Amino acid sequence: MRRPLIVGNWKMNGSRSRNAELLGALLSRWQGVHQAEVGVCSPSVYLQQLADCLTGSNIWVGAQDVSPHDSGAYTGEVSAAMLAEMDCHYVIVGHSERREYHGETDALVAQKFAAAQKADIVPILCVGETLAQRDAGDALVVIGEQLKVVIEACGRDAFSQAVIAYEPVWAIGTGRTATPKQAQEVHAFIRDQLGEQGLGVRILYGGSVKGANAADLFAETDIDGALVGGASLKAEEFIEICRAAE
Ligand code: 13P
Repeated sequence: MRRPLIVGNWKMNGSRSRNAELLGALLSRWQGVHQAEVGVCSPSVYLQQLADCLTGSNIWVGAQDVSPHDSGAYTGEVSAAMLAEMDCHYVIVGHSERREYHGETDALVAQKFAAAQKADIVPILCVGETLAQRDAGDALVVIGEQLKVVIEACGRDAFSQAVIAYEPVWAIGTGRTATPKQAQEVHAFIRDQLGEQGLGVRILYGGSVKGANAADLFAETDIDGALVGGASLKAEEFIEICRAAE
């Protein structure tokens, strides 16, 4: 019922030549019709390159962040309408690296979520706890609050056009994946927070997903795919993850 979705988050990596090579390799390895849906989120300066390579293919273009504002004196920001012009189908909002290094609050993340939807771009809302929060037994409380702020600002119905990514901060780039059971517990909790609306919402897991651990994660009832960092920079590994979702 929920179509599996795998999204690569390149973070601040790439160059025009490396991107061309990676995108070419992805397109040649992911030809034809698939059950799983696939997208790639690049730094904003490369979105035109992604649009040129991917538009009309079976791989979506995505961005990693969006301004909450429509336009105006916001130096360095990129609006949702601009992302739409680059054929972006998805945009990541509230990634833990933006929350941590750029001071993004739940309220700001909710504004970004709304801005994306206003431009018909599907937000991928990231939530997740730090290791200290997990060790203190607060994981679900933290995630519940992160979700609540967006639900209150945008309404549960807004999630019919959104994706959620559960990314435990302690599992990002550390090689330490949440166990399928740990992730499933949080995914089920997230779905529950959305009430009836939650049944159709895709909830991705992110944090050290690799070809070798993807299938076990995807076997869980409430894990509908992955948001992939490091492994999305290697075509073969990324496609292995995509295939595990089918
Ligand atoms: P890694 O897959 O490198 O752990 O990164 C996960 C992530 O942050 C995806 O958004």
